[in-house]
Order: sequence, then structure tokens, then C-alpha cells
Amino acid sequence: MSAPGSLRIVGLGPGGPAWITPEASRLIAYATDLVGYAPYLERLPQKQGQTRHRTGNRVEMERARHAMRLVEDGRHVALVSGGDPGVFAMAAAVFEAIEDGEPRWRDIDIAVSPGISAMQAAAARTGAPLGHDFCAISLSDNRKPWSVVEKRLAAAANADFVIALYNPASAARPGRIHDAFALLRGLKSASTPVVFARAVGREDEYISIETLASADSARADMSTLIIVGSSETRIVPRGSGTPFVYTPRGVKVEQ
Ligand code: SAH
Repeated sequence: MSAPGSLRIVGLGPGGPAWITPEASRLIAYATDLVGYAPYLERLPQKQGQTRHRTGNRVEMERARHAMRLVEDGRHVALVSGGDPGVFAMAAAVFEAIEDGEPRWRDIDIAVSPGISAMQAAAARTGAPLGHDFCAISLSDNRKPWSVVEKRLAAAANADFVIALYNPASAARPGRIHDAFALLRGLKSASTPVVFARAVGREDEYISIETLASADSARADMSTLIIVGSSETRIVPRGSGTPFVYTPRGVKVEQ
């Protein structure tokens, strides 16, 4: 038996070293092995003696099981995700692998280290659009039928949540965000603020503030996070620079 290894599931934030937590940096420096999707690993400085295990984007369960096997060999593994590892990312794949896997995997030394999620970074760039009740919906239909996405979008619109939309488009399904906007336009006011936040925290960051009427779904790609306001969400114009967007902290009671 080798000395016990450990698994740390680490969020790298949305991009840029300033938005990686000190804890994440410490865990990455301590790891003997880094496991993750290649573009995330490329964000991290090379370190002598540390082994990198690059995997594709669509093989999350295989990546999780690979990490568990490395831990059983006594390695100290950091499994990295963009943003927060618990938000539409690797942490859930690891716990699924544990639930379905070897009983002894449940006793592995394992911890999750949080990161700044894309919706928080996008919100920070524009003001405070998530200032009151909100939800997050992934538009990816890899793991759920599109009818479930439609049901959740409609429920969120009817309950007047601010909605953060992850995975708005993919190379395989570029039209998902188009369909989502069509559904929301039927349920919400045309003047509802919509934030497009692309590659937040990276060099090619691009933010655009629209309304549901003007929102162009062609603007969204795999690196875009979209925030659709509630009926309370406000756009505050400024003389120069982009306007502020915020959602007041309470709902006004009608007298
Ligand atoms: N765990 C990640 C989300 C992974 S799902 C997190 O917490 O942020 C991938 C989706 O996240 C992308 O399609 C996009 O909608 C969003 N995303 C990730 N990084 C982003 C960034 N830097 N800027 C804007 N959106 C981003």
C-alpha cells in the first residue's frame, strides 16, 4: 500500500490570475498531479515534477475516475474546473463517480475548493444584476432534454427570477439561446435588461447591455454568460461608459 493520496476539486475562477483564490493557488502548487480539460490546465504555470493529465471536455466521468485511481496510487491530485467547480462542472461528476464506484472511494481524502463563478464575475462587471432572487440555468441539453430547459425557463420567468444562463450555445447547437430568447420574449417585458458577458476576466472580455427586444442571440457563444433581468432590474445610463445594471434588494409592495 502506498501512502494515502488526496483529491482536491479546485475552481480556477472565470479567467485571469487575479480571480484565482489563494487557497486554489496553494492546492495547485501542492499537487503532484493536475487533472483537467486542456484549456484550464494551460492557464496554470508549469511546475517541475508535477504531472499534467489533459482530458477532453466531454469525458467528465472518465476524468473523475482517472483522478480517483491516481489518488489510490498515493498521488495528491488537483482536479481543476473553470469558475466554481460545483456550478455546472467537475465536482458533481466526482461525487457521481464515488456514488457509483468502489465502496472504498468514499473514504478518500477529498475536498472542494470554491471559485468565482461566471455569473458572479459578469454581475460584478455590470453593477449588481444578481442583487435579489435569481436562478441559474444551463442551456446545454447534453444531459437533459430541451423540454426540461423550456419548463425551467418558463417557471423562472413566471416567478420573476433574474436568470443567469450558462452554456448558451455550442458548436453543435448554436441555436439554443435563440430558442430561449423566443420563449422568454413571450413571457417577459420587451424592456427587460439583458447582459451579455463574454470571456469575463480574460483578454478578449466583451460586455454588452441590451434589452430582451434588442438582444441578438448571434452574440452568444460558448464563452458567454447571459443575465436576463427580473421585472425589477434597472439599467442606469451614464454620460460615458457602459450603463450600470442592478436589481433592487427588495420588491416594492403595491399600495
Ligand atoms: N463552472 C463554471 C461554469 C462551467 S459551464 C463556472 O462556475 O463559471 C461553461 C459556461 O460557463 C460557458 O458556456 C459560459 O456560459 C460560462 N463561462 C465560463 N467562463 C466564462 C467567462 N470567463 N466569461 C463568461 N462566461 C463564462
